[in-house]
Amino acid sequence: MSEEKDILVVAHSSEWKPYSYIPGNGQPKGLLIDFWQAYAKYNHESIQFMLLDWADSLSYMKEGGNRVHAGLLKSPEREAYLDYVAPIFNTNGSLYVQNQAGQVSKDPLAADKVVGVVAGSYESWFLAEHYPNVKQRRFRRNETLFSAALDGEISALVADSQTANFYFLTQGKPLAFVADQVLYTRPIYAAVPKGNQALLNEIRAGIDNIPSQELLRIKQKWINTERVEAYPTWLIPSVALTVLLGAVTYIFILKRMVYKRTVALRQANSRLREFANTDPLTQLLNRRGLDAYFSRQKPKLSRQQEMGLILIDLDHFKQVNDTYGHMQGDKVLVHLASYLKRLVKKGAAARLGGEEFCVLCPTPNLDALIEIANHIRCDVADSVFEFDGAEIRVTVSIGAIIASDVTDDMDALELDALIHAADVLMYRAKHRGRNQVMLASSQSVKTPISAM
Ligand code: GH3
Ligand code: MG
Ligand code: MG
Repeated sequence: MSEEKDILVVAHSSEWKPYSYIPGNGQPKGLLIDFWQAYAKYNHESIQFMLLDWADSLSYMKEGGNRVHAGLLKSPEREAYLDYVAPIFNTNGSLYVQNQAGQVSKDPLAADKVVGVVAGSYESWFLAEHYPNVKQRRFRRNETLFSAALDGEISALVADSQTANFYFLTQGKPLAFVADQVLYTRPIYAAVPKGNQALLNEIRAGIDNIPSQELLRIKQKWINTERVEAYPTWLIPSVALTVLLGAVTYIFILKRMVYKRTVALRQANSRLREFANTDPLTQLLNRRGLDAYFSRQKPKLSRQQEMGLILIDLDHFKQVNDTYGHMQGDKVLVHLASYLKRLVKKGAAARLGGEEFCVLCPTPNLDALIEIANHIRCDVADSVFEFDGAEIRVTVSIGAIIASDVTDDMDALELDALIHAADVLMYRAKHRGRNQVMLASSQSVKTPISAM
């Protein structure tokens, strides 16, 4: 064929990893493929690969022409139709046996034992030559040979060590078979159709042109990196997926952590605000807290609903302290506070300082407010605080006022003005003899509840 004269055709097996094979993308790969590509490069020559089943690659060489076999072992029968050019790499042929725990297969090369080989391979010839009584089971390709081995169809096989290791590793079963013995170590040769001296010389010279450094690089690439080839195809995507999942999980955890911290911070802030608005002894609102409450309530005021303020000061409380001690005085304050808290359902009770309390509540009119104020006065006067055997009686003076007593302009109403007005009234109650409620109309209420 005329084109064969121009292009050198390099023949080999399509299934002889890691020497030559055709992966999924259809581009030939392997140690011998790299070798012949280097040959083409360093000799500025075009080559074409012809990768076939092993036996077919030999038949192809028998036809003659401008073709070279990429690499094979010497055997006498091949001498009939091939001239060997030069040794390229060394290979080992080994006997592999099934790796069964506890079972030692006895002499796998004894007469009548079945051993798998690739048809037409050197291994097949070697067995026939040296172990003629072994029954050979021949497979067309390495792939079918190793599949049969892994499926348990054969329990022994002879193959090139690199090839066998490569296949078992690729299938994820590096220990399914073990090398029982190395049968031979031989070089593989490039070979041309017999009698073509010109081609033989040309290829020999061409191989010599490949730098030894390059040969070493190719060999190391395939002998040392076969494990990389052995990684299953799903490994890289799953590692990428794992990394991605890890990143997503990390971001999720981070976001949750930030969310939790934010909630905790908000709660802490709210506790802090509560703390700042609360009187520590009585747990009532303090002046600050009352201001906040007043600001929230003011917009809700209407003609039907006024704001009322009751200012309460304990009478002669200094004497209580002096007589029973400051601690007992505190207890009185705490009790009075919890009483006010229970009483005031619709408004707020606060401690403005010392022994001065305040009730701020919505009220329909002054009468309703007076009733509450007098109720407080009477309840306190009727109470006996008993602590550690001491019986303490106290009274309160009260100033009671509604917003419209202070201003007609409800929008301009201020808590300070209300408190100040109530304070003036409360002092008036003190001057009038204490234990009474004083109103803006200069009326004083000191009657018992039943009399009202
Ligand atoms: P009145 O108001 O009737 O004029 O007499 P008072 O003795 O209550 O008035 P004054 O303002 O002179 O004294 C207030 C007293 O309240 C002084 C102090 O001993 C007492 N007091 C103020 N704060 C506290 C407190 O937190 N705990 C106790 N136990 N006593 C307090
Ligand atoms: Mg007082
Ligand atoms: Mg006081």
